[in-house]
Amino acid sequence: MSMKKLRLGILSLTGCEGCVNELLDVLLTTPGLLNYLELEYCRLIMDAEPSKVDVLIVEGAVASERDYELLKSASEKAQYVVALGSCAVLGGVSQSCLTFENLQQITREVYQGTLPKLRRLPPPEAKPITELVKVSYVVPGCPPPKSELQKLLTSLILGKEFKLCEHTVCFECKARGMVCLLEKGVLCLGPLTRGGCEARCPRVGAPCLGCRGPAPELRIREYINILKEKNLLDSVTIKKLMSIFQTFSSLRAKVTEVLDSG
Ligand code: SF4
Ligand code: SF4
Ligand code: SF4
Repeated sequence: MSMKKLRLGILSLTGCEGCVNELLDVLLTTPGLLNYLELEYCRLIMDAEPSKVDVLIVEGAVASERDYELLKSASEKAQYVVALGSCAVLGGVSQSCLTFENLQQITREVYQGTLPKLRRLPPPEAKPITELVKVSYVVPGCPPPKSELQKLLTSLILGKEFKLCEHTVCFECKARGMVCLLEKGVLCLGPLTRGGCEARCPRVGAPCLGCRGPAPELRIREYINILKEKNLLDSVTIKKLMSIFQTFSSLRAKVTEVLDSG
């Protein structure tokens, strides 16, 4: 008896298409996966309009009326909606780039001081899809880890609930016996960030910038105390790091309160 394939739609809004690349890589390289999935649309590799699907996976933030219309009409034709990546889940770099000051600064840097005459645009704004439509699952990360994408697709095929990992990025450094970057005088957001990425950044000597969003259990006070002990407490840098992926925007007031209380 042949099993009915799960119909999948992939929609890209405002983002860099890095998440979709990862997802397609997983789809094409995981043995057997395509026996259970039918890809109905994905603008990166096929010319097809959003149609009726079992699962819609959305990458990117909503940064225009067009994005919103696309999201609304595609999600109305889907049984389940999944937010893929930091832009779709939290706003991510799409949101942080699109604040007015950042946009001006980025334009200056990209055009090296010789600003082109730009059409006057409405004040830019980008929102994560989680604020605009009902979402069944989120897979944060910039881009999300491949192992988690495999788990997501397998859970969807089997009709099982998909769960994100609950520990922090620090747990993954410790599990690999790595020397903590804080010991080397580098500020890192790993203690506040949801793990699951196999400590992708600290593993190559770069600090965690929080792309996976806040960890389920946050120990802000303990984190600040450790930074103090190590002489690394620099509230301007911490706030800047936290704003890159908009990861901590919902917690900014809480973090600022702890930072400001000294
Ligand atoms: S989350 Fe990162 S990789 Fe994914 S679309 Fe946004 S910027 Fe690109
Ligand atoms: S390097 Fe960062 S993520 Fe790793 S243990 Fe240290 S603080 Fe945590
Ligand atoms: S280490 Fe932090 S910034 Fe890097 S992939 Fe993991 S969660 Fe994202």
